[in-house]
Amino acid sequence: MALEGDQRGAVIGHGIYDPDSPIAVRAWTLGDGRPPSADEVAARLERAIAIRAVLFADGTTTAYRMLNGEGDRTPGFVIDRYADVAVLRIDGAAARALAPKLLERVPDVLRAVGITTLLERGDGDDRNAVTVRFGPDPRGGEVVVREHDVPFVVDLLHGQKTGAFLDQRENRRRIGALVAARRTAGLSVRVLNLFSYTGGFSQRAALAGGTVTSVDVAAKAHATAQRSFALAGLDPKAHSFVSADAFAWLAEAKRKGARFDVVVSDPPSFAPNERSKPRALSAYRALHRACADVLAPGGHFVAASCSSHVTAEDFVATLDDAALGRSDLRLLELHGPPPDHPTLPRFVEGRYLKLAILA
Ligand code: SAH
Repeated sequence: MALEGDQRGAVIGHGIYDPDSPIAVRAWTLGDGRPPSADEVAARLERAIAIRAVLFADGTTTAYRMLNGEGDRTPGFVIDRYADVAVLRIDGAAARALAPKLLERVPDVLRAVGITTLLERGDGDDRNAVTVRFGPDPRGGEVVVREHDVPFVVDLLHGQKTGAFLDQRENRRRIGALVAARRTAGLSVRVLNLFSYTGGFSQRAALAGGTVTSVDVAAKAHATAQRSFALAGLDPKAHSFVSADAFAWLAEAKRKGARFDVVVSDPPSFAPNERSKPRALSAYRALHRACADVLAPGGHFVAASCSSHVTAEDFVATLDDAALGRSDLRLLELHGPPPDHPTLPRFVEGRYLKLAILA
């Protein structure tokens, strides 16, 4: 576990060593500080929780990341909160091997802030394996949470990541505000949400008065989205939910001459590793061209990327005039991860989430 020595053999820090991982060492302390311990993990988790207590002091948001691995100085360990249920994810074999010892005090820290059940989601091939670490098994694995007071359904057992894409919370709110502002300005609001998953962006756009078409390959995600629509007082039948490949659907929409006033694109990561980056950048350019082809004149284009190997500047470059095949758009806003997904200044990959708004 110790990260041994500079060339003269002096200790330069302590971390978790995983020779078979692309991240071979996850540093916990620099200098000759002590190796990670259960007390240190508890102290770092308490600090992370105290920061969230300020972020979410108004009580309108009940789902957020409590502990963000490297960004909260606990590399290898992530905890998300969904109301009274917390979901732990452990990254890598080394962190997993050390977990029984390092996480010893975590249940007490979580119970003290009202967590009644702690689940653990597997990673890699095991992503859908869920074990109960303490507390009652949440019935059916579904919980209703609120984001800025908007209720939505999360499937803790089958959902992606730890259940939902919590990192897009502030961006979902931004899309709601954008649709509302277009209406105030007297503009039309036909919204296309590509890669819509459980309909987070769709729901906010619909609440703001938009008519929304949601496209995702996962039919099951649409069922969850429709339940969240109903929970928020929306009629899902007034909107369309299409189970299709987004690329094929866009080609067909272009052929038919369909146009939308707001197009949101939030695809899965195109770059699983550094080597696939050039291919990922071409894929973004092609996707962005297809989105631009169905964007009405005067429309807003919202493009997101969660590829950690693609920087913000790389991503913005996939939205240039040549990529879009039109020269009437400009970059209005560029957003990164929200504050419950903190990062360390020099850990660029931690800022994997990018969202650009063009008009
Ligand atoms: N915007 C969502 C998160 C999107 S995650 C939110 O705010 O919650 C990416 C989604 O893309 C997943 O739901 C996945 O099912 C979907 N997906 C992956 N490949 C796809 C494809 N080729 N066509 C359509 N959807 C796809």
